[in-house]
Amino acid sequence: MDRQAGEDRSAAEGDIRVLRAAREGVLERLGAACTRAGRDPRDVRLVAVSKTVPAERLRLATTAGFDLFGENRVQEAAAKASLLPGPRWHLVGHLQHNKARTALELFDLIETVDSVELARRLDRLLAEGAVGRAVPYPVLLQVNVDADPAKAGFDPDELAAALPELAALPNLRLEGLMTVGRLVTGAEEARPTFVALRRLSERLRASGEAGRSLGGALSMGMSDDFEVACEEGATLVRVGRALFGERASAAR
Ligand SMILES: *Cc1c(COP(=O)(O)O)cnc(C)c1O
Repeated sequence: MDRQAGEDRSAAEGDIRVLRAAREGVLERLGAACTRAGRDPRDVRLVAVSKTVPAERLRLATTAGFDLFGENRVQEAAAKASLLPGPRWHLVGHLQHNKARTALELFDLIETVDSVELARRLDRLLAEGAVGRAVPYPVLLQVNVDADPAKAGFDPDELAAALPELAALPNLRLEGLMTVGRLVTGAEEARPTFVALRRLSERLRASGEAGRSLGGALSMGMSDDFEVACEEGATLVRVGRALFGERASAAR
């Protein structure tokens, strides 16, 4: 092996160690948070949010044990997934309607269904059988619990009103709710958002026929506050920086 190849290989091995340690650290904190709340850590899935992380590094991450990535752009995810068969992918960013078909092909779970129109479109594409997915296909409904004008998602009351129509779409399975908390300076500040999402889920699921078709999944919590989210009942946490390091400042 020449010297350059040897250096590349040991850099890759070093990064695999870094990624493995980061993942183990996050899983340990997640486990401790679950224990504090009397929950089973196996009830929380870690979604490694890999936006802006290049495919070559994600390949190392899969060697380090990562098996589920979250991406917020369909195009970026499609490029990476084509280079990297194996892991599962979740969509965690807003889905433009013209990318719905690609998203269904690519993602095992779309976490960001944020309008009835989008849900109808996904249902229709699945009904046409054009995407080769088993139905019902699982989705989460994104809720803007903080009424943050900068955030996508159903308003909670609007979601309560829309739930019968959403529940009647035969090709979608409503696995639960997802929210993106507003920007906060400390993890504790995020707690009211997580409590609000959990309570909304409980309220909707107790509300008649349509409520019964809503599952109990709760996707909430990111690098700075995933432990608080676990304490408040998250079943999926979406963690980027605590696993991969800081993103370049220009990146989202
Ligand atoms: C970027 C992103 C995350 C991860 O954020 P980190 O602060 O890097 O953990 C989670 N959810 C969504 C929707 C995101 O866009």
